[in-house]
Amino acid sequence: MKKRICILNTGGTIGMVPTEQGFAPKKGVLAELLKEMPELNDTAMPLWDVIEFDPLLDSSNMTVEQWGHIGEVIARNYDNYDGFVVLHGTDTMSYTASALSFMLENLGKPVILTGSQIPLCQLRSDGRDNIISSMIIAAQGVAQEVCLYFAGKLLRGNRSTKISADQLVAFESPNYPPLATVGIDIKYNSSALKEPPLASFSLRPMQQVPIGVLKFFPGIQFNLFESIMTEKLHGIVLETFGAGNIPSYDNDLPAIIKKAFDKGTIVTVCSQCLQGTTKLGAYATSSPLKDAGAVSGYDMTTEAAVTKLYYLFSCGYSRDMIKELMEKDLRGELSR
Ligand code: ASP
Repeated sequence: MKKRICILNTGGTIGMVPTEQGFAPKKGVLAELLKEMPELNDTAMPLWDVIEFDPLLDSSNMTVEQWGHIGEVIARNYDNYDGFVVLHGTDTMSYTASALSFMLENLGKPVILTGSQIPLCQLRSDGRDNIISSMIIAAQGVAQEVCLYFAGKLLRGNRSTKISADQLVAFESPNYPPLATVGIDIKYNSSALKEPPLASFSLRPMQQVPIGVLKFFPGIQFNLFESIMTEKLHGIVLETFGAGNIPSYDNDLPAIIKKAFDKGTIVTVCSQCLQGTTKLGAYATSSPLKDAGAVSGYDMTTEAAVTKLYYLFSCGYSRDMIKELMEKDLRGELSR
């Protein structure tokens, strides 16, 4: 029997048209273009339907609420389709892929996010291959997890990050091998794929939670940020140097972090480096973070750390539990 794929169009360059203000999404355009693509109506292709979101977004406007809508549409249609292809802007695609990986609990079908750097209405669009390959991968059903497909590589969604604003190879998963490479054949990396779930699928909606991200830089005056580190801030991701290091010229710093932690903020330490892991205590410059109660994000991307905080707070866990789970692998988002 033919496989059935549900395409969710959330917006992004792939379905954009030129306007006086620059590229912007336009209602109905993408569905029309898909209908006209002979490849999608080839007998070898799965059957497909398109659900268009309203409004269509430039993904810079993606919100926690929109993640909820995407999750709801997948959950509502879960039994009716063999897989899902989510068309999405590239700018925040890795955030949405990470968020969905947490929200879609016990996922047993492929959910493939893709998009393009050049709109489908333009001659050299990379959207054609991205859509066709994503649909085939979704129909094959081998990768039963949230993935991001772009330019010949299938990546684990919560390991992916956007690495280029203008190259067609726009995504990488620097700390995890590709789940599949797409050349003449689609070659799956079976040892990298998630095991099928043991329990049945469910959706965990996410809530808006006050979360911050702070990137360190030489000369940072940490006292300037003291005012945001209040009990109102549930979680903060620190993008630190190298293996989790922060400047030690600023004596205010450990005290501010400790105060934030004592007030209940989950302080998560990630690295500015694309590749590698944080190792608190490896250098004297990271020990204060450890002593102040910060948790290690290990090799998680900032995208994964931020969405994991949203998810864990939305689950209603205690602060201690969240602290513990931030350092545990829940969906293949970290290795330690
Ligand atoms: N600004 C666009 C978006 O993220 C970029 C893209 O799709 O490539 O929606």
